Amino acid sequence: MSALDEPQMPAGGDTHIADAHVDGAPALSLELLLQNLPGAAYRCLNDGVWTMEFVSDGIEKLCGYPPAAFMARPGIPFASVIVPEDRIAVERGIALAIEEHRAFQLTYRIRCANGAIKWICEQGSVAASGKVLEGLLFDFTRVRNADMLVHEQASYLQRARDGIVAIDINSRITYWNNGAERLYGWNAAEVRGRKFSELLCGNLPAYHAACEATLSNGEWSGELAHVRRDGVAIETDTRWTLIEADEALGAPQKILVISTDISERKHSEAKIYHLAFFDALTDLPNRASLLDHLRRALLGSARTRKCGALMFCDLDNFKYLNDSQGHAAGDMLLQAVARRLEHCVREADMVARLGGDEFVILIQPVEDTREGAATQAETVAAKVVAAMAAPFQLAEMSYSVSVSVGVTTMCGTVDTVESTLRQADAAMYEAKACGRNTYRFHDPAAQAAWSARAELENAMRRALRDDEFVLHYQPQLDRSTRVIGAEALLRWRLPDGKLLYPAEFIHAAEESGLIIEMGRWVLRTACAELARWQRYPDTAGLTLSVNVSASQFIEPDFVPMLQQIFEQTGVQPSGLKLELTESLVVSDFTQTARTMGMLKQRGISFSLDDFGTGYSSLAYLRKLPLDQLKIDQSFMRDVLTDQNDASIVRSIIALGDSLGLQVIAEGVETPGQRQFLSDAGCFIYQGFLYQHALSAEHFTQYARMVH
Ligand code: C2E
Ligand code: MG
Ligand code: MG
Repeated sequence: MSALDEPQMPAGGDTHIADAHVDGAPALSLELLLQNLPGAAYRCLNDGVWTMEFVSDGIEKLCGYPPAAFMARPGIPFASVIVPEDRIAVERGIALAIEEHRAFQLTYRIRCANGAIKWICEQGSVAASGKVLEGLLFDFTRVRNADMLVHEQASYLQRARDGIVAIDINSRITYWNNGAERLYGWNAAEVRGRKFSELLCGNLPAYHAACEATLSNGEWSGELAHVRRDGVAIETDTRWTLIEADEALGAPQKILVISTDISERKHSEAKIYHLAFFDALTDLPNRASLLDHLRRALLGSARTRKCGALMFCDLDNFKYLNDSQGHAAGDMLLQAVARRLEHCVREADMVARLGGDEFVILIQPVEDTREGAATQAETVAAKVVAAMAAPFQLAEMSYSVSVSVGVTTMCGTVDTVESTLRQADAAMYEAKACGRNTYRFHDPAAQAAWSARAELENAMRRALRDDEFVLHYQPQLDRSTRVIGAEALLRWRLPDGKLLYPAEFIHAAEESGLIIEMGRWVLRTACAELARWQRYPDTAGLTLSVNVSASQFIEPDFVPMLQQIFEQTGVQPSGLKLELTESLVVSDFTQTARTMGMLKQRGISFSLDDFGTGYSSLAYLRKLPLDQLKIDQSFMRDVLTDQNDASIVRSIIALGDSLGLQVIAEGVETPGQRQFLSDAGCFIYQGFLYQHALSAEHFTQYARMVH
């Protein structure tokens, strides 16, 4: 103690005020102060071993040696109680403080008299030009251990494999562990204060839903998709926990987000799913997948009452290829067939491979009736059969294969997975029995409708070959009841003499594509007849109107084909008028206008048939090189009694006038209708009031008579 009282105490040492009376305040007892100090005050020489000149009593509590043990000469140098491993650090710390003329604070370990190790915090300063050190020594063990605990616990968070993130209620990131860095690609410094939602917005609505659930329930867990810093999408299994605000600590409410990367697991799951539900050879859905989809389709169909269809497609003679060329060739063919089949269906429909050379097509139930579903299915079945027509190129070899298709319609209220499969299978065997390379329906009604259509198509082919079609000519007259021309109307005279009208076959001809050949025949026959008229003065000025189907008109070789007919028949094209329908004009305006333009140059004129029943727009009416509008007969029927029809007819006539087009009315059956038309300004007529369509011979007789 006496050392402290000595006058050579270091300058600036607080001990100067000790024992002094300040303005009458009670004297501070330095001794008492030192006794109560939680540690020890010291003054030592900076002699390398820190020989104590003075150390307060607290040193004994700190290290177990009494102050006298340090202050005796020779006594214990303070350096000897410092754990050897820490001594160099202490020396360095002091040397640096001397160099920089500042106080120092050091923490290090000492070995106590009883052998225990303690952490010491030393706060000191340097006096007497570096020769003396003075300061305080505290027991730092508890703080140090608590610190260590915090560090250790923080390191657990850092070392966790999961991404651990804390966000505040504004979604701003306040904590981000190494796992989060590994998972998301950003490091903690880069993300602090940024919004979690903006950083990783894989699926914002899902993120916000998770946030809301956590705020209201205290926790949420589920899967979230994110986009990493490098742009890679990842999937995470995530647990969110609400950390309530801690007012004592001044900590606001937060959300702790712990996320595990499950991308790989998801990937494997997808792979396993693919293996389980897809055929390895063709990559088409397999049997299990088909059964699942079929079951769902039937359930849906039972609910919506819509009908769909199922088709079994079996390659004909596939076994032969496999046996003769080996399995590799067989595999290649199956893969190529799979690709062609996929092109035959709409996106919603499904092509599956059952195994071997058996494929199945599921047509989703979207039709109101079985007939509708059968029509849909038939289109697909026809496509499937046609799709196999071109040979397959298998490495060096070209191979042709055909397919037999069995079709059944299905409706969930009646059919089951088993019955549907059985029926399609049975229909497929039926197709095989019918000579393969074809399709058959299981449903009797659908089969009957299809058979009738197929029969009609065959009969039309025969009719073309055997010249069973004839043209009849219905006169067209002007206001003075003079014949000015005719419309050629197609008739089909069956071998038994019965006459069929277009309503019974034109639609089927259009559906099957036969209309192209049929239309060519009509034009050739009509032009030949017109050429005959042109050879006689009393019929030379007549025009002949010919109906042309849309599909025929847009054929690429329509113009050259007509040109050839003109040359072969020697007809003057100026007498020919083509009747087009509004649907054609609407479907491909540019192409139609171009073709019309080319034909117009050759002198042909055009009439717009069935006018008023379609979607004509004034814009295209003006742009097309039309000559005539033909009022549809449906407006004529009730023109005298129905105000609507009457005003439509009047409007068409006015429209024709303003566009400079001739207007003709068809379906004129009574003098009253004719009167109405002439009152309204239409002066060309076609209808039963004058004549039905006549054979070529009768027409010319009639024309000469009323000439
Ligand atoms: P469309 O071109 O509108 O032909 C007029 C139809 O009205 C003809 O029926 C004709 O017989 C009928 N008709 C004429 N006057 C009257 C009448 O006063 N009252 C009634 N109720 N009907 C009358 P058709 O010959 O049965 O032809 C029906 C449709 O078949 C034609 O309608 C046309 O769209 C199509 N068609 C006829 N021949 C051909 C052809 O050679 N090629 C093409 N692609 N289609 C044709
Ligand atoms: Mg017509
Ligand atoms: Mg018409």
